[in-house]
Amino acid sequence: MDTGIPEELKERAYRGICTKEDAALLLGAGPFELFSFADELRALAVGARVTYVRNRNINFTNRCTGTCRFCAFKDNKDYYILSPEELLAKVREAKETKATEVCIQGGLLPDVDLSFYLGILESIKAEYPEMHIHAFSPMEVWHAARLSGISVKEALLQLKKSGLDSMPGTAAEILSDRVREIICPAKLKAGEWVEVVKQAHTTGLPTTATMMYGHVETPEERIEHILTIREIQKETGGITEFVPLPFMPYNNPIGEKLMKEGRYTSPGTEDLKIYALSRILLHTHVDNIQASWVKLGKKLAQLALHCGANDLGGTLMEERISKSAGANNGETITAKELEWMIRGAGRIPKERNTLYMGIKEPVSDSQREVPGYEASE
Ligand code: SF4
Repeated sequence: MDTGIPEELKERAYRGICTKEDAALLLGAGPFELFSFADELRALAVGARVTYVRNRNINFTNRCTGTCRFCAFKDNKDYYILSPEELLAKVREAKETKATEVCIQGGLLPDVDLSFYLGILESIKAEYPEMHIHAFSPMEVWHAARLSGISVKEALLQLKKSGLDSMPGTAAEILSDRVREIICPAKLKAGEWVEVVKQAHTTGLPTTATMMYGHVETPEERIEHILTIREIQKETGGITEFVPLPFMPYNNPIGEKLMKEGRYTSPGTEDLKIYALSRILLHTHVDNIQASWVKLGKKLAQLALHCGANDLGGTLMEERISKSAGANNGETITAKELEWMIRGAGRIPKERNTLYMGIKEPVSDSQREVPGYEASE
């Protein structure tokens, strides 16, 4: 049967060497052929296990000197900055729900330097040394280094010494300076983002990688973005997961402009195609493709597990950024519900830590794709 995806292309995908032209062809293939091939590669890469992490988001401030035109989160009039006590109270609550990670990000404060960020890390590690701190986007690290008059490398070394365990690969948006000039002109340029991430990896700090799509970028720019992530991974091996994030159009200037032109959020089929494309282009390089239940909604996130995704992200406990831009899928989810969603999709749920350690033991073929199968550990 003609799947619409040429055999030679599939061969290149198995070897992790798909080209830009292959990617364009994949986007033109029938969606179900694309989903099915991505699902095959997912099974080869990680088997039937679908992971999630118990974590808590903490946004320490919504004050920001940034000018990102897709942002609905920053508020320079009615802003908050969490006190050290408030921040620690949130970590304590996270600990009480058995969270293993706190994910800390915030706006770019005008009047702080690196010591502010170091203080956050040190106060958490003093009370909760075992809590994994996944914090500060490449933009925040770049901002802190600039305000302190030191290099990004030096900032990363100090952050690590103060307790930073890994970094979110946010602020990537689309790694194209043409796009960034339109949606976030004051943000670090594409090459600078890549540089901060690579420096983090060489400092011993793993990162995730993200892509916010569905605004002003072209299909070619999406492809370039994913291939840039692949290049970074080939060089450093420091990326733990790739997270495609659909743009939320509400309460922000870019979204309002698009909606005036009759464009809203990306169609579900397009979201699933991005998940599938990510799996195929990153095969043999980045094993974990995360479907965001916050952005996609629970049902589409479940479906994404059949289109290349193998991770549902975290329990979050609180989520402000997507909510402010119109996401209405909730701010928190229990581990129990995530496991329910995963079993409902015919996969095997497995709690992971931030770095996906200890979950790669092989699953036998007979255990694959069995609804309700309970991992024994
Ligand atoms: S996206 Fe982040 S850096 Fe940009 S304006 Fe919003 S809070 Fe600031």
